[in-house]
Amino acid sequence: MTPPTRRDFIKASLAAAASGAILPGVAGCEGAASKADRPNLLFVFPDQMRGQALGFMGEDPVITPKLDHFASESVAFTQAVSNYPVCSPYRGMMLTGLYSHSNGVLANCNTNGAEHGYELPPDARCWSDVLHDNGYALGYIGKWHLDSPHKPYVDTANNTEEFAWNEWTPPERRHGFDFWYAYGTYDNHDHPEYWTTEAPRSERTRVDQWSPEHEADMAIRFIRNEDGEYRDPEKPWALVVSMNPPHMPYQRVPERYLEMYGDATPEELINRPNVKLEENTSGAQLARRHIKNYFAQITGVDDQFGRILSTLRQEGLDEDTIVVFTSDHGNCLGCHDEVSKNVHYEESMRVPFLIRWSGKIEPRRDDLLLSTPDIFPTLLELMALGGEIPKEVEGRSRASLLLEGDGPRPTSQLYIKIPLGEPALGHRGVRTHRYTLSVQKTAEGKVSYILHDNVEDPFQLENIAGEKEELVKELMETELIPWLEKTRDPWLGTPG
Ligand code: CA
Repeated sequence: MTPPTRRDFIKASLAAAASGAILPGVAGCEGAASKADRPNLLFVFPDQMRGQALGFMGEDPVITPKLDHFASESVAFTQAVSNYPVCSPYRGMMLTGLYSHSNGVLANCNTNGAEHGYELPPDARCWSDVLHDNGYALGYIGKWHLDSPHKPYVDTANNTEEFAWNEWTPPERRHGFDFWYAYGTYDNHDHPEYWTTEAPRSERTRVDQWSPEHEADMAIRFIRNEDGEYRDPEKPWALVVSMNPPHMPYQRVPERYLEMYGDATPEELINRPNVKLEENTSGAQLARRHIKNYFAQITGVDDQFGRILSTLRQEGLDEDTIVVFTSDHGNCLGCHDEVSKNVHYEESMRVPFLIRWSGKIEPRRDDLLLSTPDIFPTLLELMALGGEIPKEVEGRSRASLLLEGDGPRPTSQLYIKIPLGEPALGHRGVRTHRYTLSVQKTAEGKVSYILHDNVEDPFQLENIAGEKEELVKELMETELIPWLEKTRDPWLGTPG
C-alpha cells in the first residue's frame, strides 16, 4: 500500500474540517500534530507596491530578479486586488477576513479616523489570534497602522499637536503577535523607529538604516532564533514583515538600487499612456520626478525579500514554510493624474500576490479574482486549521484551488471607498475579468458612474458608462448589489 502523501493528508484534513471532525495530527496516526504537519508562515507585504511593478509580468520596466525567481516557484495570482486600496482598510480586511463595514476600519487610522472610531477592535478575531490559540509563535515586524492615535500624541516627526498618524500598539491590541517590532505609521525610510515587544509607549528604538534592510535583518534573526531569543523553538511560527517602501518619500532609497537603473530617463521608465507626458500635467511631473526612485525602492524591497528567502533555504525550511508576498494597495504615481491610491484604477487596486509552499503547491500563474478578505480563510485552511475559521468571515478560502487546482472562481471583486464619517456614501464598484465599474453617491443625492473596458482599453483612458447603460445595469444587478447585500453595506439603502 502506498503511504499517504502530504496531499492526501491535506485532502483528508479539508474533508474532515468541512464535516467538523477532529483532525488527527498525522494521517493514520492519532496524537499531537508533529511540527512537519504544521507549516510556518512568512507573510511579507511592502506598502504601495502596484501589481504592474513585477519584472516577470512584463509591464513596468522594474528590476525584481528575486521576485521573478520566487514567482517561478509560486502560484502568482495575476489579478489580485486590494478591495479598498488604502492602508488601514486593507490591513483590517487582510487580518479579519471581513469587508470594511464588518471590521470597523472604514478609513485610515489617524486623527480624523479616530473621531469616528475607525480602528481594529481589540476583540476582532484575526487569523493571527487563531494561530496563537493553536500553538503558533508569532512575530510582527514593521508598519501596523491599525490603531487610532490618541492624545497626548506620541512625540514622533509625523505627529503634531493638531494631527497625528503614529501610535503605539499596546500588547492587548496585538492580536496574538507575541514578538513585536513595529510602529503605527512613520514614513522615514532612512531613520525608522520601532516599539519592541516590552517597550512602553514612551520608548522607541531609533535606527539609522534603510527600513526594509533593517526589517529583513530582524526577520532573519527571528527565523534563525539563536538561543531561542525571539520565539519558542518548539512551536511552529508565523511572521509578518510589513515594509514601508515603496511608499513615499520615494527619494529615500539607497544609491545602490538607483544605480541599477543607470541613466534611464523618465520617458524610458514611464510606459503607461495614462501618464500625460506630452501635456506635462501635475501627474506627469510627479511621475517624472519619482518613477526611478519608486522602481529603485521596489528593487530594494526585492533584494531584501531575497535575503529572507535565502535564510529560509539555509535553515532547511523551504518545505515547512508557506511564503506570501503581496502589498496593501498599489500606486498611480501620476497615472490619470492621481497622486497615489484610494481610487478604482488598476494601478491603485491591483497588487502582487505570490504564494509558495514548496512541494505542496504547484507553481503556476492564475487569473483568479482574489479579494483581500480571502487571505484569512485561505491561509488557515492551508495550515489545516479550516475548522477554526470563524463563521462570520466573509472571504472565501482558495486553498483547494491552490492545492488541487480547482475550486469556486468568483466573477468579480468588490471596490470600496468610504468618505469620512459617511458609511452609506462614496464609491462602490466591481472589477470583473473585463470591466471596472465605480458608482459614486454623494451627500447631495448625486449618483455618477465610471465604467472601463480593461480588455479593449487596458490603461482605462475612456469612461464608457454613458454609452453602455445596459451593461452598467447588468453589472449592478448581477455583481455589485449581491456583494453589497452580502456585506450588509448601508450604501444600498441610500437614494440614487
Ligand atoms: Ca499603505
